[in-house]
Amino acid sequence: MSTKIVGIVGMGPAGLMAGTILLEQGIEVHFFDHKKAAGRKFLVAGHGGFNLTHSESIELFQKKYNHSFIKKAFLQFNNEDWRNWLQSKLGIETFVGSSGKIFPLKGIKPIEVLSNWLEKIISLGGKFNYSHKLIDFSENEAVFSHNGNDIDFSFDYLVLALGGASWKKTGSTGEWKELLDSKNIECTNFVSSNSGFEIEDWHKMADMEGQTLKNTDTSFGLISRKGDVVISSYGLEGTPVYFVNKEFRNSPSDYLYIDLKPTKSQEEIIEILLKSKNTTEGLKNLNLSKTAIQLLKKWTTKEDYSDVKILSSIIKKMSFKPISLRPIDEVISTIGGISMESITEDFKLKNYPTIYCCGEMLDWDAPTGGYLIQGCVSSGFAVGKAISKQE
Ligand SMILES: Cc1cc2nc3c(=O)[nH]c(=O)nc-3n(C[C@H](O)[C@H](O)[C@H](O)COP(=O)(O)OP(=O)(O)OC[C@H]3O[C@@H](n4cnc5c(N)ncnc54)[C@H](O)[C@@H]3O)c2cc1C
Repeated sequence: MSTKIVGIVGMGPAGLMAGTILLEQGIEVHFFDHKKAAGRKFLVAGHGGFNLTHSESIELFQKKYNHSFIKKAFLQFNNEDWRNWLQSKLGIETFVGSSGKIFPLKGIKPIEVLSNWLEKIISLGGKFNYSHKLIDFSENEAVFSHNGNDIDFSFDYLVLALGGASWKKTGSTGEWKELLDSKNIECTNFVSSNSGFEIEDWHKMADMEGQTLKNTDTSFGLISRKGDVVISSYGLEGTPVYFVNKEFRNSPSDYLYIDLKPTKSQEEIIEILLKSKNTTEGLKNLNLSKTAIQLLKKWTTKEDYSDVKILSSIIKKMSFKPISLRPIDEVISTIGGISMESITEDFKLKNYPTIYCCGEMLDWDAPTGGYLIQGCVSSGFAVGKAISKQE
């Protein structure tokens, strides 16, 4: 049994993974969270798709991360390792969906995944401290606010896994940034990621809210992504839209384009439209969905709609002017937080060598669809291993 004492602050997937790895090495681990329960955002993710990871090859997978430290952590604990871990340690079987995303087996609820994980931690001797908000720390002591009292906790190593700044009600408030700023730990401002776009002049589309444009090709700048785009009251949502967020952040005055018929060239579309009795029949002959046809009618002028050449070019490249990303609190993830310059390759704070950080509180980015949770558990795993190796 090691004599090290480790505190894990933040009980999302990153902190839970770091703590589990440490407990497995016989290290004494105390978990803290300012909420009354663990893994609130993990459960929110469960209400949506609950993509635990993706089945993509390791080579392609690591390209989804924009920072070498997260890529390296992923190589240390990859998507296959995470699946095997879920199965062998928590008894959670997973399956690969048609899109390649990995989910818990049908019938397994997100709360079951979380409960099994917490039970595993208890069986290894982990101690939980809820309603404990981190308010200060030094190299060997953390201070928590608990029911109006300040509680001191002495540690050999501390892991910060405090999450990003979206969905504040889950506990991921981002308020910790102020504390870290005061300790001269460089942090960048939070920015929405995996976010929908608010689109200029969208008011006329509001009655189409909730409808889906299936199998589009969405592009912005030099990048594009196939998939379904969802129409909302303010603009556009959906995986392809989230994917192009980064290009928007680089060039906010550019346009977003949607190809409504990626399987046909403009020439083929013109041919089908010309052979049809009228535009309405032509669009049906093209097998465009009702939603796509309705959008075309509403978004184009009467003149453009009845001009085959112009209409075909709009079908191939319908343009939208994004005004902004959605407010931070509504989005799936945030970038910003602890600057990667502030940590070493094994996620140790450069100016606090007894303190490690992992998960979404670090300034890295990845698309949704399993890559976020994977990045969190991979960095948590790397931190657990790094601290285990310390004297
Ligand atoms: C709607 C939605 C859907 C999502 N779907 C998916 C998906 O399908 N696949 C995917 O990969 N990702 C998904 N995500 C993203 C994923 O849930 C997060 O990236 C992940 O939960 C982040 O893990 P984390 O451990 O870094 O932080 P979090 O899970 O945010 O946990 C941080 C913890 O720190 C605690 N905390 C914060 N400040 C303090 C403090 N001062 N003191 C004590 N405790 C504190 C919080 O209470 C919280 O429990 C989704 C997110 C949302 C919002």
